Amino acid sequence: MKAFQSFGTMGVLLLSASFVCAQGIAQTNVGRIPGMEQKEALRVNDHIYQATGFGNTYMVKTSEGNVIIDTAMGFFAPRHYALLRKVSEAPVKFIIITHCHPDHIAGIRRWRGPETKVIAHERFQELRDYQTMLGGLFERRNAAQYGIPRPLVRASAEEVRRPEYGADITFEKTHSFKLGELTFEIHYTPGETQDQLAIWIPELKAAFIGDNMYETFPNMYTLRGTEFRSPKPWLASLEKVRSWEPEVVLGSHLLPISGKEECAKQLTRYIDAIRFIHDKTVEGMNQGKDVWTLMNEIKLPPEISLPETYGRLTWSIRGIYEGYVGFFDEKIPTMYPVPASAVHKDLFELAGGASPLIERAQKLATDQPVKSLHLLDIVLDVDPSQVEARKIRVQCYHRLLDQAVNVIEQGWLRDGILQEEKAIKQSSTAGKNP
Ligand SMILES: [Zn+2]
Repeated sequence: MKAFQSFGTMGVLLLSASFVCAQGIAQTNVGRIPGMEQKEALRVNDHIYQATGFGNTYMVKTSEGNVIIDTAMGFFAPRHYALLRKVSEAPVKFIIITHCHPDHIAGIRRWRGPETKVIAHERFQELRDYQTMLGGLFERRNAAQYGIPRPLVRASAEEVRRPEYGADITFEKTHSFKLGELTFEIHYTPGETQDQLAIWIPELKAAFIGDNMYETFPNMYTLRGTEFRSPKPWLASLEKVRSWEPEVVLGSHLLPISGKEECAKQLTRYIDAIRFIHDKTVEGMNQGKDVWTLMNEIKLPPEISLPETYGRLTWSIRGIYEGYVGFFDEKIPTMYPVPASAVHKDLFELAGGASPLIERAQKLATDQPVKSLHLLDIVLDVDPSQVEARKIRVQCYHRLLDQAVNVIEQGWLRDGILQEEKAIKQSSTAGKNP
């Protein structure tokens, strides 16, 4: 069985601090949406059914009622509800939420009945509060990164902040219960978030792994901003799941991984990839290498390579570096509130104005677009009315977009193009109406 489902271009929406509605999806102008073609819930075994989407919703049937694991983002929740209700109309006794991101909690209200208890880790609420505390920042960044209008991002975030999305039962390390013929062992497994949990059903040899594993290299740092996604607990969590020797692994953004050997193989590859990047980064830090050197030097060996359509090695390396020791790079100017851009005006004047810098930026735009962008920053910091510089910026963004496979990177580049085109339009309008 194919083990993974594509993140697709729109996959980015998914782990963000926003969730999306139909209108939002249409406006992102993105590729394949996972699970949209699904007519019936995927039967994993006699007890487990999967509705596919962003993320997946699972129903576990027992003789004494059902358990729902994760509830997808708002756009998918009604369809998932309909697909899984076709499988069983029995009451939902528990909803287990693997972590606090909205692509896991937005359907809670739909599934919650009078006798339903929602189970999450004890840090679930704290991390929801973190998203609320930085709501303004996430609203701005999610709108840019995912191409969703800000009012939609805000409305979605406000919806899932409501108390109805809270948990009834929380736990610190483990929580178990029996329902009908099945045992649900819930374990704290920090990784992609600090409230991540995994579920083990020993009778079925089934492990639900949440977002601690997906099809691509793990998103150990995400550009919209996140707390440190510390690799060591993440590794320990994956090792714990592997130690159960599962025969089926179910993830929120995976198709089922079936067979004891295949499960062990996939888990081991993920563990080895994270460990390799972590250890190489730490080794380089101790050798006195700076973060830029390590971002360029460290590559995964082919046997444990993973696609970078969602998580990205370079961001993860920097995430680990700065997660462990913060921003200071052993350079004296970094101690002071005077950024390198403070000398942009000096460089601009020394170059003899905008023209030579623009000329050089144009030369670099095709083969070294990021260097070109640095030169353009000098020009536009000093003189934001330089339309030619903005046009070269757009060229550079397009050049980078042509090469980009990572959906988050693509999102920021598309937003950059949009912003520059807006600025160019405004300056041409201003020029016509002096
Ligand atoms: Zn997710």
